[in-house]
Amino acid sequence: MTGKRILIVGGVAGGASCAARLRRLDEQAAITIFERGPYVSFANCGLPYHVGGVIADESKLLVATPELFRDRFSITIRTGHEVIAIDKTAKTIQVREVATGSLATHAYDALVLAPGAAAIKPPIPGIDLPGIFPVRTIPDARHVRAWITDRQATSALVIGGGFIGLEMVENLAHRGLAVTVIEKADQVLPPLDREMATLVQERLASARVSVHLGDGIAAFALDAAGRLEATTGRGQRIIADLVILAVGVRPETALAQAANLTLGSSGGIAVDETMRTSDPAIWAVGDAVETVDVVTGARQIIPLAGPANRQGRIAAESICGRNARFRGVQATAVCGVFGLTVAMTGASEKALTRAGITGWDAVRLHPAHHVGYYPGAKAIHLKLIYRRADGRVLGAQAVGEEGVDKRIDVLAMAIQLGATVQDLAEAELCYAPQYGAAKDPVNLAGFIADNALSGDMPLSEWDVLGNGSSFVLDVREPAECARGMIPGSLNIPLHQLRDRLSEVPTDKPVAVLCAAGQRAYYAVRILRQQGVDARNLSGGWQTYSALVAGR
Ligand code: FAD
Repeated sequence: MTGKRILIVGGVAGGASCAARLRRLDEQAAITIFERGPYVSFANCGLPYHVGGVIADESKLLVATPELFRDRFSITIRTGHEVIAIDKTAKTIQVREVATGSLATHAYDALVLAPGAAAIKPPIPGIDLPGIFPVRTIPDARHVRAWITDRQATSALVIGGGFIGLEMVENLAHRGLAVTVIEKADQVLPPLDREMATLVQERLASARVSVHLGDGIAAFALDAAGRLEATTGRGQRIIADLVILAVGVRPETALAQAANLTLGSSGGIAVDETMRTSDPAIWAVGDAVETVDVVTGARQIIPLAGPANRQGRIAAESICGRNARFRGVQATAVCGVFGLTVAMTGASEKALTRAGITGWDAVRLHPAHHVGYYPGAKAIHLKLIYRRADGRVLGAQAVGEEGVDKRIDVLAMAIQLGATVQDLAEAELCYAPQYGAAKDPVNLAGFIADNALSGDMPLSEWDVLGNGSSFVLDVREPAECARGMIPGSLNIPLHQLRDRLSEVPTDKPVAVLCAAGQRAYYAVRILRQQGVDARNLSGGWQTYSALVAGR
């Protein structure tokens, strides 16, 4: 090859995508990937399911092999080769062969850093005991599987209740292990808002997973039988045959730092929109880089496969002189937990509050994933967050058994295109009875938010409960109220409301609820036309139950 010498550090999501795109754009370039581990282009996202035996054959995790890269793309792969230094002035890297320790120097015209992130290993006494595993690589998964089989393990402790932690919980349970998960935050899946996480916690409980929230591990030791004994910060003892570490990742920035490349405030490698670092001949992509959140503007590290792949592609375009730009991340993520799908995109209430952003509202709804008359309808618990000033969609979260990912994907696209809640109301989405409804949950979220913005159905904040500022009216049927009511609320079933208007005060706001919000909407319309300042407690009793359970 007589073209540009392009070297890539790291051969998985970001690095492999970059290399393949480079070849499609430049047939002359000499492209080499250096990968420290034994595999390139493997499916790290599939690792929990391999541990669980759902993906039984390890080779299925290999998305592409070095031979395929060589034969199809004429790309050189050097697995078992770690890049240990960059000389920016000479435009060379130093590479150590892992097996032999031998060193070599390679020159580049363009260098791409795609070294990913490393599992955080907290400095806890006993953390290096055998039986404590991270799950980042194929060998990691192999070790966990072998440990479970060899020791005939019956119990596991997962440290960290984030997305990967919960995937490991599910897969270990799938193998028949009794699983405990411990999470430092006071809820699982910390990026979610609390009432959504509560639904996941309920599912974990019904799957007999022992969940410890607001606690961490202080030390590991071995008990008399040689099993791992974890002591929590609160002094509880948890015995397990193996421990999975899933407390998050830190970007692999050692190489970049040693080469004096600029790091961002969040600790990731700083890049511009073309994925170029502070050195004009070096690009960086994936879990190692800092990105900008498209909604909040926050600079952060978002370790997700989609952004890593897109960034790899954009770096390749930039190296080849094209004008592609990375738009930023909105942290669209999905996770399966014992038959529940949990998905989110854009900003949560928490993220907005953290970023100091005000002037937004949230609607909550619980529609069926398809029409109720078709068998098998399942509720989707959906939360939509939007800007009050112009209705722009800022974020969404959903939990349910069916149809969750489809709605969050639609809303992710809406956020990316700057859509408003009115656009959601107008969205024309596919419908037949077994797939959705003529008013899809996305449309309904748009209708509710639009009604709130137009003043047809103002929303009541949930935190008015108990502070005396609002009168709480429950328009459910008595049989529903018998299962529980908000303390101090008055029950007037919707069908009696027109005859009992005199019981509703007119001197203060009236917060109206029903089971999920629809009957409360009708009640709000009746009351507002009678001059009552009625507002919908959006999401109704279902949201109230989740909020109370999450406290
Ligand atoms: P990686 O894919 O981690 O690749 C980096 C590679 O660089 C590594 O193989 C490493 O060995 C190599 N390397 C590092 N330093 C050097 C060096 N100095 N020299 C040579 N090689 C080096 N994301 C999702 O969006 N959805 C999911 O469902 C999902 N599930 C996941 C499940 C698990 C168990 C894990 C671990 C991750 C999951 N992710 C998921 C995250 C996703 O895999 C990452 O965001 C993505 O792989 C990041 O790509 P990357 O190229 O930046 O880094």
